[in-house]
Amino acid sequence: MQLRDAPSPNHDARPDGTPIDMLVLHYTGMRSGAEAIARLRDPAARVSSHYVVEEDGAIVRLVPEERRAWHAGTSHWRGREGLNDRSIGIEIVNPGHDWGYRPFPALQMAAVCDLSLGILGRHGIAACDVVAHSDIAPDRKQDPGEFFDWEGLAANGVGLWPEGVAGEDAALPPDGLARAVPLLGAIGYRTDLPPAMLLTAFQRRWRPERVDGLADAGCLARLIAVAALIGHGGGHAEPLA
Ligand SMILES: [Zn+2]
Repeated sequence: MQLRDAPSPNHDARPDGTPIDMLVLHYTGMRSGAEAIARLRDPAARVSSHYVVEEDGAIVRLVPEERRAWHAGTSHWRGREGLNDRSIGIEIVNPGHDWGYRPFPALQMAAVCDLSLGILGRHGIAACDVVAHSDIAPDRKQDPGEFFDWEGLAANGVGLWPEGVAGEDAALPPDGLARAVPLLGAIGYRTDLPPAMLLTAFQRRWRPERVDGLADAGCLARLIAVAALIGHGGGHAEPLA
């Protein structure tokens, strides 16, 4: 693993007694990696992450893991809030939706995988607590987005992916939204936001082939599978008719 240090001043102490029990993945959303790293190290910007992974797979360490980096902002997952307190943040270089969103190169994904496996092992972070920025701030964020290979990461031990769920059924059950919202809550999303916004975040993460915010039959099948995988709410879901 190719790792270099480029310290950022943008960090502080984690609150006493708070465990490190989440991993948050981001894209940088700037025109270049150099520009993103400069911003993450700029005291005036007041943002940072623990690591940046460049497109060639090089890893830059900005903030020590035991310190609180400032990457998540207002955030919520599985009943917890203010997730900078308890998470490690990785920024993955990609221009993002504003500057020419493009697939993440294989070398970069391999580096994200290696880095993540080390972090999960060091802190004992559960698979259900490996999240996208868009999962924990669905009203503000789209990153790392639908091109990010969550399935490949899960196959290598980072995060969760439901196996063998056909997700292409676009029929719209009349009660789709009513069934979707509790499943979203069981997975970990806050549920006090517009359902279409939450479904869009879910789809970016777990149904990237169709990101439209609709609770169609394929989306419900994926929701049920993810909820069952996480082990909460799966048992409450009625099977699809
Ligand atoms: Zn982000």
